[in-house]
Amino acid sequence: MLNKLKDMHGRGTELVTVYIPPGYEISKISNELKQEQGTATNIKSKTTRKNVVSALERIVQHLRLHPRAPEHGMAVFCGNISEREGMQDIQLFPVIPPFPITNKLYRCSQRFILAPLFEMLQFMDTYGLLVLDRGGATIAFLKGKRIDIIRDVKSMVPGKFRAGGQSAARFERAREGLAKDFYKRVGVAANEVFANIKDIKGIIIGGPGPTKESWMDGDFLSPEVRTKVLAVKDTSYTGDFGIKELVERSEDVLAEAEVTHEKHLMYRFLERLGTGQPVTYGEAEVRRALEAKAVEIVLFSEKLQWNRVTVECGLCKFNYKGTVKDPKAFDEKLASQNCPKCDASRLAKIEEVTLVEDMTDLAEATGGTLEIISTDTSEGVQLYELGGIAAILRYEV
Ligand SMILES: [Zn+2]
Repeated sequence: MLNKLKDMHGRGTELVTVYIPPGYEISKISNELKQEQGTATNIKSKTTRKNVVSALERIVQHLRLHPRAPEHGMAVFCGNISEREGMQDIQLFPVIPPFPITNKLYRCSQRFILAPLFEMLQFMDTYGLLVLDRGGATIAFLKGKRIDIIRDVKSMVPGKFRAGGQSAARFERAREGLAKDFYKRVGVAANEVFANIKDIKGIIIGGPGPTKESWMDGDFLSPEVRTKVLAVKDTSYTGDFGIKELVERSEDVLAEAEVTHEKHLMYRFLERLGTGQPVTYGEAEVRRALEAKAVEIVLFSEKLQWNRVTVECGLCKFNYKGTVKDPKAFDEKLASQNCPKCDASRLAKIEEVTLVEDMTDLAEATGGTLEIISTDTSEGVQLYELGGIAAILRYEV
C-alpha cells in the first residue's frame, strides 16, 4: 500500500494527507478540514483548487464513518490521481497504522506524506516463510503485512508416470535421487536466506501433502535455522499463492510468537532485576546507560506515546532537548515563557521526533536494539507500571 501511494503524484499541490492521532474527536478534525476547504478557494490554479476542494470533501465524508479515531489513530490519503490532464479521478486511501500515530498532520502537496508510516515499518518483526511440494519451493519474508518473495527453487522431479521402455524400479530410483537433490537444494537456499536476517522472529513451513514433513525429517536445515521454526502448516498451493495462504493460516502462530517473544524478553529483564544483574529502568536511567554504550536491549512500552523535542531561542540560540509527555501543555508553556537565558525572546521547537525513534537511533548507534513491548501480557503491563522504559545492560553503569 505504501509503495503504491509513494508513486502517486499530483499535477499541482493537490494530494491531501491527513494524520489523526488516537483519542482525537473526528468531528473536530472534520470541522478543521471544512475550514481548509474555505482557505483552498484562494488557490490560484483553477484545477488544483477544484481537486483540493473535492479531496477534502471526500475525506470529510469518509470521516463520518468514524466518530472516534481508532486505537492507533488513522491516516487518510486523498486526491486526484488521474494520469490524464484535465480529468478528475479522486481516490481515497485510508490507512490504519500498526503503531499509534504521534503527530497530527494536514498537508496538501504534490505527493502524499508517508514518512511517518514508513518509519513504523522498521519496528515490525520479520518472519521467514517456506512452502514446498515435489514441484518446487518458494522462500519469502513477512514484515508486518508485507510479503517479499525472495527465492524460488525449481524441482526436477518428474511426475509419477514413467516414459515407455524404462523399468519401473529404475525409474523410481532415479525419481528418488532427484527428489533428494531437490530437498538438499531447498535446504541450502533456506539456510542461506534465513541465516542472513539477524533478528528473524520465526519461520513457518507450509505446503500441500507430505513433502514438507519428509523434508523437515531429512535434516536439511542447519540447527540454528531449525530452532526458529514455529510451525508446519498444510496449504493447498505452493508458489506465491501458497505463501499468501500460509500467512492467512498462521495468524494464530504469529500472534502467539509475538506474545512469547515479549514474555521472554520481560522474563530476562525481571530475572536479572531480581538477582542483581545489570539492568536499569526509567527514561533518564536508560538514556544514561545508552550514552555509556552499555545497553544490549531497550524494552519500550507501546503505550508510551512521548516525543523528543529540541527547542531553541531565536535570539541567543540557547537550546535544550527534552521529552514531552503532554504536547498541548508543552506548547502552551513555550508560548507563554521567555528564554531562560536572555529573557528577550520565546523558545521555538526546532526538532521533534517520537521518543521511540530517538531511543532506537541511540541504541542502534551503540550496537544495541530496541524492542517494543505491548501491554497484552501481564509482563508488558509490569513494564508500563515501571515507567514504560527499561534496559538489559551488558555491564553495570
Ligand atoms: Zn535567548
